Amino acid sequence: MKKNSFSEAKRYLVGGVNSPVRAFKAVGGEPFLVASGKGSRLYDGDGNAYLDYVMSWGANILGHAAPEIVSAINRAAGQGISFGAPTWSEAELARMIREAFPSMEKVRLVSSGTEAVMSAVRLARGATGRKKIVKFIGGYHGHADGFLVKAGSGGATFGIPDSKGVPEEVARLTLAIPYNHEEEAEKIFKAHGDEIACVLAEPVAANMGVVVPEESFLQKLRDLCNHYGALLVFDEVITGFRIAYGGAQELFGIEADLTCLGKILGGGLPLAAFGGRDEIMCHLAPEGPVYQAGTLSGNPLAVACGIAVLNILRSGEVYRELARKSESLLGPLSDYVTKKSYPVRIRACASLFTVFFAPDEIRNFSDAQKSDTEKYAAFFHGLLKQGVFFPPSQFESCFISRGHSSQDLSITLDAVRKSLEFVFK
Ligand SMILES: *Cc1c(COP(=O)(O)O)cnc(C)c1O
Repeated sequence: MKKNSFSEAKRYLVGGVNSPVRAFKAVGGEPFLVASGKGSRLYDGDGNAYLDYVMSWGANILGHAAPEIVSAINRAAGQGISFGAPTWSEAELARMIREAFPSMEKVRLVSSGTEAVMSAVRLARGATGRKKIVKFIGGYHGHADGFLVKAGSGGATFGIPDSKGVPEEVARLTLAIPYNHEEEAEKIFKAHGDEIACVLAEPVAANMGVVVPEESFLQKLRDLCNHYGALLVFDEVITGFRIAYGGAQELFGIEADLTCLGKILGGGLPLAAFGGRDEIMCHLAPEGPVYQAGTLSGNPLAVACGIAVLNILRSGEVYRELARKSESLLGPLSDYVTKKSYPVRIRACASLFTVFFAPDEIRNFSDAQKSDTEKYAAFFHGLLKQGVFFPPSQFESCFISRGHSSQDLSITLDAVRKSLEFVFK
């Protein structure tokens, strides 16, 4: 066995990885081991370069090892790595978050998206005194017990756990309904309205592939929550600071009661946050009875990284640049797919996109599931052979970063065309 190989890693790590999708199970083959990253590229131990569209699942909006981030981390590291006592920088970052998301009057910093959503839901339950939550089938909110539910098929809305180890009693409190389906949302509120603590939604679904909300869908959720006294929780772990500086709430003009952020917020370090109106957040310890804590919460390196990222993103210039880049890749690609009549749909929102191997419109998870995942796997490997790294699953998003140059995007366009030709030959 070769040292530095994935098969060797499997002797020590479960499945060779620390997060399942990295193991390439959905596309077959073995992942390369990353030795380093710079700008748009990852490098393995043999010096092979990969044009990266995973970008730490979106966290690296500025590209790998962005110089501003590296120096912010270095500066902060010299001043101490963790204190377990409050710092001014945490308050400064919270202030910047509120500036971007006015609905987040008060903020709590945590270390992962899972932790943010898990804590926001506990707070929603504590603040409303209700137990049930509504989520959307195919929506991902981290791996806390109550979220590993998509409720199976056939209109069965009571939670059936997706993972062993999640008790049915816990899963049953999660009601899962189809995304972009206003009547189902109405129905679930009619049936359970006074027991629903919150609706938990990715405002743009990005974990079933990219699926955008239809015209009035988010407003409908807002109205239902208002009417029934439930809280609207937007999981903006991907969309926050991505589709606009103020996330989906800025883009669509709809305010959430509680908002969860992660990924970009930490710029690649473990940092996430949740927040909302003062009257809700004050239920949280130490001001209120809902407990939540963390030894490394508000870690000074992660916070310095977050402040550095937001300082760059705040002017909006990066978003304008990403919109141009996205158009330069996806415009010609859509034309090409149409010209060739390939059964492929490209779905995008700002610098997020998915190439779906499905012929029909994709409005929700059951539409997305009609995708031909074998064709996606062939497409993925076709790209990887050409040194382009797309997510190793059909149901993920590709991420364009500041690190992707125009030349990178034209290389990608060629590689994608070739790979599609190969898949459909
Ligand atoms: C990634 C993600 C999470 C979980 O974040 P982790 O940092 O992986 O725990 C939650 N919600 C959404 C929408 C995500 O994309």
